[in-house]
Amino acid sequence: MAEIEREAMEYDVVIVGAGPAGLSAAIRLKQLDSDLQVVVLEKGSEVGAHILSGAVLDPCGLDALIPDWKDKGAPLNVPVKDDNFYMLGEAGQIRIPNFPMPPLMNNHGNYIVSMGNVCRWMAEQAEELGVEIFPGMACSELVYGDNGEVKGVVAGVFGLEADGSYGPNTEPGMELHGKYVFLSEGVRGSLSKEVIAKYGLSDGKEPQKYGVGMKEIWEIDPAKHKEGSVTHTMGWPLGSNAGGGSFIYHLDNNQVYVGFVVHLNYKNPHLYPYMEFQRFKHHPMVAELLKGGKRVAYGARAITEGGYQSMPKLVAPGVALLGCSAGMVNVPRIKGNHNAMLSGKAAAEAAYDAIKAERSSDELAAYEVSVRDGAIGADLKKVRNVKPMWSKWGLTASLMLGGLDMWTNTFGFSLFGTIGHGKNDAEATEPADQHKPIDYPKPDGVLSFDRLTNVAFAATNHEESQPCHLRLGNQDTPIQVNLPKYAEPAQRYCPAGVYEVVEKDGKPEFVVNFQNCVHCKTCDIKDPSQNITWTTPQGGDGPNYPNM
Ligand SMILES: Cc1cc2nc3c(=O)[nH]c(=O)nc-3n(C[C@H](O)[C@H](O)[C@H](O)COP(=O)(O)OP(=O)(O)OC[C@H]3O[C@@H](n4cnc5c(N)ncnc54)[C@H](O)[C@@H]3O)c2cc1C
Repeated sequence: MAEIEREAMEYDVVIVGAGPAGLSAAIRLKQLDSDLQVVVLEKGSEVGAHILSGAVLDPCGLDALIPDWKDKGAPLNVPVKDDNFYMLGEAGQIRIPNFPMPPLMNNHGNYIVSMGNVCRWMAEQAEELGVEIFPGMACSELVYGDNGEVKGVVAGVFGLEADGSYGPNTEPGMELHGKYVFLSEGVRGSLSKEVIAKYGLSDGKEPQKYGVGMKEIWEIDPAKHKEGSVTHTMGWPLGSNAGGGSFIYHLDNNQVYVGFVVHLNYKNPHLYPYMEFQRFKHHPMVAELLKGGKRVAYGARAITEGGYQSMPKLVAPGVALLGCSAGMVNVPRIKGNHNAMLSGKAAAEAAYDAIKAERSSDELAAYEVSVRDGAIGADLKKVRNVKPMWSKWGLTASLMLGGLDMWTNTFGFSLFGTIGHGKNDAEATEPADQHKPIDYPKPDGVLSFDRLTNVAFAATNHEESQPCHLRLGNQDTPIQVNLPKYAEPAQRYCPAGVYEVVEKDGKPEFVVNFQNCVHCKTCDIKDPSQNITWTTPQGGDGPNYPNM
């Protein structure tokens, strides 16, 4: 194929992804020097379209970045008023009192927000400072310089033929070069994955761990709505099949975020995370809340769970990993947005100092130090053993020992040192014949919904004539390996019904309905053969979340 010619644009800093990490970096760079040329590229059709984090936000990141965010109209309108934690059984629940909880678990001072709306507001702040933001621009490739450094990205490739070749309507995109490139793609970023592998950034670290989070927005009966109420549950319906739990956040306008996270290190390939979520809503406590209400939106996204010991090295020549591209979620708090913001600020400060010293395309070592030795490191270090304890010893032991460990870490020490995670989530999957299939009740269409009906509420859209962005390393692996050995779990772990095994001419065939993809990345993480690679489809495709 002839060499593709692309126009190139030069910037000081090129930022991939307009989430809280990328936007914070952009804002901080322009706060430090309004003459810096900063660009943010976002694959969603608009900023916020791919943000799934109807969230309890710890405002410490925003406080550090924009101390007068209240006066500037940031959409943090619902302070947390009460915090509830329940252990569920099939027919009832036990409330765990707040007093034995370590202080870091307290949500006092936090806000229930739509992170999509927070990002939209942050984008306005960034644009006012002169940042160029281009939504609908997926960054599909990295550009390397002569010395192996990351020099930029390719963005804005549109109209490829279905086989990936160039056709009459193909726009080749452009190269955006920067003195530094920030990858703030969120969990399991496709370019971040390439950079981590190329520079060996995870060498000597524990494997990254993940969960899949699914979420619905419900409008409920005003009589049952309690603005500012936060509830977390554990236990039923997952039991010993998998780690995970739920969250129920009452925002304003009688709306409630109902979400469910399943840790992806589950062993039983028959497990169906989406159906666990649907079943959860039939618990008497949850059903009572939702009865008479309606589900208005649905979405799904993986969440990083490896924490402190899984964070890769954050820098390589010319490039830095920000936020959840490096996995900065505090797992027991289910919070990562504050660290994403703080990492964006820290990366910006390191790049500003480097550019002022006339450096470029080298390693921003100061950023690495700032994250590990600063507020983010401190936040993640205190809770580093909770997830591996849960994986190794189950829910009850991890609640007690994890609670003890968080308490002692509050005072600066741990009795357990740092516990490793061991296997990655794909390796955790065991052969199907070692586990029993799970019989899930049929959704009733009132509280629970079948997957494809729900996917319609993610408003996801992919141009059908483009190449499938979910690439199979070996076309035969799903049917020849995954089906006999693992009952092809892609049929179940994907929360958007992308993968099916159908019968054609009496033989099983693997079908990839990439049009349904909500960009959660679960397939890239959980496929036991590690045969599926998530790549970016063309810009603007994917979910269109309203105020998730
Ligand atoms: C179900 C769930 C619930 C959560 N609840 C909370 C909570 O209550 N509180 C909390 O603080 N945290 C919560 N989190 C964690 C939080 O969402 C993350 O920590 C946070 O989103 C990380 O921010 P980020 O900027 O690194 O990435 P993201 O917010 O994921 O933003 C990344 C952006 O980059 C874009 N992008 C990715 N790749 C490319 C590319 N190649 N080209 C162009 N654009 C690209 C994406 O479209 C996206 O807009 C939750 C996560 C999940 C999944």
